[in-house]
Amino acid sequence: MIADLVKARTSFDHDTRLALWRGEKVVLPSDTPSKAFGYWTWYRSAIGSASELGLGARRGWKALPAPEKDLSIVFISGGVESTYLDAILPLTIRRMSIDNLPKLSEATTHEGYLAILAVLLGYRVCHLGIEGSKFGTEDYEKDGRLTVEFSKRWVCEWNGYASPYQVVSMVHDMTRFQLFNWVVEHRLDAGLKSCFGYTDEKKWCGECFKCWNIFTFYRALGRDPRFRLSTKAWLRYNTELRAYIETGVDKFGTLSDYKELAQCGYSLDQDKEATKWLS
Ligand SMILES: [Zn+2]
Repeated sequence: MIADLVKARTSFDHDTRLALWRGEKVVLPSDTPSKAFGYWTWYRSAIGSASELGLGARRGWKALPAPEKDLSIVFISGGVESTYLDAILPLTIRRMSIDNLPKLSEATTHEGYLAILAVLLGYRVCHLGIEGSKFGTEDYEKDGRLTVEFSKRWVCEWNGYASPYQVVSMVHDMTRFQLFNWVVEHRLDAGLKSCFGYTDEKKWCGECFKCWNIFTFYRALGRDPRFRLSTKAWLRYNTELRAYIETGVDKFGTLSDYKELAQCGYSLDQDKEATKWLS
């Protein structure tokens, strides 16, 4: 019974979210509580959706039942944040690899999708690895699309909407570089999967933004990167970083991490040794 109620509501949440992303018209049941209508109104505006959103003539709102058990889940991507969470969270928390998730929508692995999925799977608490630089921003570009589903505001809005189901970030006070530093100190970096072109055969393509990002983190710690970065990627993303420093335009949404690297005394331009690991 409870599973049917949860399923009905989570498919409603999933479909509503997707329709707003696609700019389609959304008609909510006439008995939608004002708090829920408020959430979707806020979400629509926050992602800049062109959708029409209103209440229809028919009733049919599905309230979420309380979870039967107080269970928690963490979604593991293998990246810096999830490697940290995987190491510190108790073993009793269920882990689910995002590689095994159904590819349901164009926004598959965004935090909002994971939050809905956690409810569907019956977990009251969903641990998401939202680190400080994302948590502190109102919106963020991911995979070429703007999302708000990293922000403190979204976590608050969602937790009000989906209560008593909750999204929690245990790393929101940490920067990505701090997390990386911890992962390296605890010798967990061999398991990192951060590259956009990751395959079982090749963990680091050496060409993408993520490879450059991790490469520079290793260098800022004065360490040997575990892979070779292409000279082309090195020059391209260094140029983007300089552009960000000069203009404040952060094309990748994570260049603000580099303020911290600068504070640690690391400068790309002065890192003459880095070229040793370029290909
Ligand atoms: Zn790569």
